[in-house]
Amino acid sequence: MGPATRELHDALDAHARRAGTPYLHPQEPTVQLDLFGSARVIAWQEGKAASMFLGETCWSALPPLYARYGTSATGELLARLRTLEHARAALACDSGMQATALVFDVLMSPGAHAVLMRQVYNKARAYLEWLAARVGGSVTIVDDGDWEAIEAAIEPRTRFVFAETFTNPLVRGQDITRLVRTVAAARDRAPELRLLLDSTIATPWAFRTPLLEQGVDVVLGSGTKALGGTDRDLWGYIATNDIALGNSVMDLLAMRGGILDWRRAQAILASWGPSLATPAGAHARRCATATRVAAFLASHPRVSEVFHPSLPSHPDAAVIRDQYVRHGSLLSFRVTGADEARTRHIADVLATTIVVRYALSFDGLATKVNHHQTVSEYFTAPAQLQRNGFDRLIRLGIGLEDPDDLIAALNWTLHHADTITPEEVAAWQQQRMTALGVQ
Ligand code: PLP
Repeated sequence: MGPATRELHDALDAHARRAGTPYLHPQEPTVQLDLFGSARVIAWQEGKAASMFLGETCWSALPPLYARYGTSATGELLARLRTLEHARAALACDSGMQATALVFDVLMSPGAHAVLMRQVYNKARAYLEWLAARVGGSVTIVDDGDWEAIEAAIEPRTRFVFAETFTNPLVRGQDITRLVRTVAAARDRAPELRLLLDSTIATPWAFRTPLLEQGVDVVLGSGTKALGGTDRDLWGYIATNDIALGNSVMDLLAMRGGILDWRRAQAILASWGPSLATPAGAHARRCATATRVAAFLASHPRVSEVFHPSLPSHPDAAVIRDQYVRHGSLLSFRVTGADEARTRHIADVLATTIVVRYALSFDGLATKVNHHQTVSEYFTAPAQLQRNGFDRLIRLGIGLEDPDDLIAALNWTLHHADTITPEEVAAWQQQRMTALGVQ
C-alpha cells in the first residue's frame, strides 16, 4: 500500500475498533458503514422483507445501512421515542412539519377526504389543503369540540381526522376519549378512518394514559419544542402501532429524504441524558411557571382574558382534569380595551424588559412573547381572525426564568406600556441591536 492508502485505511480501522461500529470515517459516525460484503446487505434486505410482510416491526428500526434509512444515533433515538409514546413503531425526521407532511402524503390520495380541526397549526392546514387540491382529495374543516360537525363531516372515503392538543394560541385541550370513541364508531361507514394527533404543545408527558394506549392511531409532533427543550435542533417524529402505516411512511422517507441525520440525533441524545429526565424536568418547570403566570394575569386589573389549561375558567377544564396531568407552557391573553395595534405595542414593550424575548417558538430556554396576529395570522382578514377567536392576543411561551421575574416584567409592562411610544420602542430595538453588535 502507498502511504495515503495505508494512512486512510489504518485510520478507518482504528475508528471501527474504538466505536464498535465500522464507520467509513476516521473520527465520526457517517452516512456509510463498511458492510464487509453482501451477506450483511442480504440479511438487511431479508429483515426489511420480514418487516413489510409480517408487519411486526417498522423497518425504521432496522440496523443502519445508509443514512437515508437511518443511523446508529437515530436508531437509539427511535428506541427512546417508542418507549416515551408506548409505540411499536417510531420514525424521526428533520422537522415537525416534515412529520405532519409525511403522514398526510401517505394518507391523502385521489378521492380521499380528511377532517381537520380548525385550530391546528396553520402550516399543517395550509399543507393539507394544498396537497388535497393537488392530488384530487378534499378536506373539511370543523371547529374544535363541535362533535356534531365532526361526526357529520366523516364520509365513507374519509381517511383521517387530524387534531392538535393543546391548540395554539387558545390552548384548547382535546377530549381524547371522545375523539377516539367518535372515530371508532365512524369506522362502520369509513373503514379506513384513522385518528391523527399532533401533541407537540401538550407533550407525551401531559397525558394520564399514553395516547396510543387510548386508541389514537398516530401521534406526531415537533421535537424542536419541548422534547429538544433548548431551542437548538429542528426535528420531528411519528409514533404509531399501525406498522403498515409506519412502513409506508418509512418508504417515503427512504425515497425522498427528510430523515433526521446522525449529527442532530447524536446531539439530541447527548442533551437528553440516560433517561430523558432533563427535558421532562425542564418541561415540568415551564408548566409550573406558566400556571403561576396564568394565575397572575387572570387576577390582573388590566387583563380581560387569559387562556391556559390550568385555569378553572378554561372551556375544557373538566376534560383537562380527567385526562391530562400537565398543563403546558404556552398561554395567551388579552389586555382590557386593547385593539390589535395596541396589543402589538404591548408585546413589543414586554420584549424591552429583556427577561422575555420576542420570538416565534416555545418550550426552549428563554420565555418568548409575540403578537399572534403579526407572527401567525398576518395575512388573515380581520373578520376571519375574529371569527376564529385569534384576534388581539399576546402569546407567551414560558421558559426557564424565575417566575417572579416574569411576573414583574409583565406587571411593569401592563402598567407602563401606554406611557411608552412606538417610536421609543423602535429606538430601543435599534440601540439594543447596536449594543449587542447584531443586525
Ligand atoms: N406542530 C405544532 C403544534 C407546532 O407549533 C409546530 C411549529 O411551530 C409544528 C408542528 C412544526 O414543527 P417544526 O417547527 O419542528 O417543523
